[in-house]
Amino acid sequence: TIKASMIVVSNRLPFVLKKDPKTGELSRCASAGGLVTAVAPVVIKGNGLWVGWPGIHSKEPLGEIPESDPSDQTPTAGLRSDQVVCVEANPTEFDSYYNGCCNGTFWPLFHSMPGRAAFSADDWRNYVKVNKLFAMKTIEALEKCHKRNTASQNVPIVWIHDYQLMLAANWVREAAEERNLPCQLAFFLHIPFPPWDIFRLFPWADEILQGILSCDMVGFHIRDYCLNFVDCCQRHLGCRVDRKNLLVEQNGRSVRVRPLPIGIPFDRFVDLARGAKKIFKTQQKIILGVDRLDYTKGLVNRLKAFEVLLEKHPEHREQVSLLQISVPSRTDVSEYQQLKEEMDQLVGRINGRFTTANWSPIRYIFGCVGQQELAAYYRDADVALVTPLRDGMNLVAKEFVACQINQPPGVLIVSPFAGAGEMMHEALLCNPYEIDEAAEVIHRALTMPEDERSLRMNRLRRREMECDVNFWMRSFLKAMGSIEEDDVGVT
Ligand code: UDP
Repeated sequence: TIKASMIVVSNRLPFVLKKDPKTGELSRCASAGGLVTAVAPVVIKGNGLWVGWPGIHSKEPLGEIPESDPSDQTPTAGLRSDQVVCVEANPTEFDSYYNGCCNGTFWPLFHSMPGRAAFSADDWRNYVKVNKLFAMKTIEALEKCHKRNTASQNVPIVWIHDYQLMLAANWVREAAEERNLPCQLAFFLHIPFPPWDIFRLFPWADEILQGILSCDMVGFHIRDYCLNFVDCCQRHLGCRVDRKNLLVEQNGRSVRVRPLPIGIPFDRFVDLARGAKKIFKTQQKIILGVDRLDYTKGLVNRLKAFEVLLEKHPEHREQVSLLQISVPSRTDVSEYQQLKEEMDQLVGRINGRFTTANWSPIRYIFGCVGQQELAAYYRDADVALVTPLRDGMNLVAKEFVACQINQPPGVLIVSPFAGAGEMMHEALLCNPYEIDEAAEVIHRALTMPEDERSLRMNRLRRREMECDVNFWMRSFLKAMGSIEEDDVGVT
């Protein structure tokens, strides 16, 4: 049983609103992410609220949010329209906040790629403005929550998500104190938190830290990101910190910093893998890559490593194919357009070099595939290559092991620079910057004996089964003191 109501604040609502062009009628379009699956039931059960952008801009205010369709079976179906607070921003300002500051500055900087970051005072102004808007909407939600749940003895939890909203807690705390609306404030960052010498490149770095420190509890995927954050608070703001217990003192308050590694809906992926039709009709071995087309994912290095493999180990020619699924992403940002060009050329060059009458080395899908199809690829691939240059966690690595239900199983290769690499000890580690060595790791995966593959995969699967996304949700609630240590009945 959950003690407190929860108000979730995220850039996007857990569904997108669609407007019928003829009637102007609004409807919900559910999203299938694992996070929503775990968090939505907690919001629904505790009579909480969700604050976020509905995915469309509209000239007139959107007005009433529609209830979910009666046929909707997704986890957000039970979220009533009076549990949703829409943030509607000016489209130009929102673009500058989202594409400019969030994806043009924070994304590369927090992934330790400052060379790709643009620093624009204009984008920063809009970031501040949109964060303020989210904060005001959150206060509205908090007021509603207090009115609705007057009988409850427990203070509501306001849970702010990710790098789009690092300042919002500032004004939420301020207004909540002024208006006497008690709440517990939490923040979770879904991307890495960089070391101080990278973080301090951002001209308004202290405001970011102060924003995050307005919370009572701050979560990151892994301990390294926690330590980076604590370090920045000490060196940039001069806060007193306790590294052992991960505490930061700010304005007489003690802010708790916690590693909370996110998991996946493991059982759902096992079911998908069990139900998926076989797609590969080939005897060749398949190496699988699944990524958004993003420069953090190490895709160029991955293709080069595969090329070296074919060069140095010609026995794999005509025996092995790389299936790379690249999901179009942030296509408005020029860095992403350039990467698309580079990938297209590289795929063409490598295929041109090695293709024979019966075989092409790389199959490249530029597009999105559905969950069922993805599960079939995960299940039937011999090797998964998860080799980002930097990645907060990486869910693909976890989804792959969940779907590996065939005997004998395949092999996971993971980069140590992904949060997932931190805990998936039984995977083969591969430094994507070391291209020749990466080729050798792929060779090792392709030639690994069956018993070793089974041993590694069994252990990987057991961990992901136990530490799934519901476990993450419970760990968060425990960290907030909202459920007891041994309480497992959250979702
Ligand atoms: N994904 C998908 N369809 C695709 C490719 C990927 O739904 O065609 C999903 C995948 O199942 C995973 C997510 O996209 O849940 C990618 O998450 P990850 O943490 O690996 O990377 P991110 O894109 O968040 O940086």
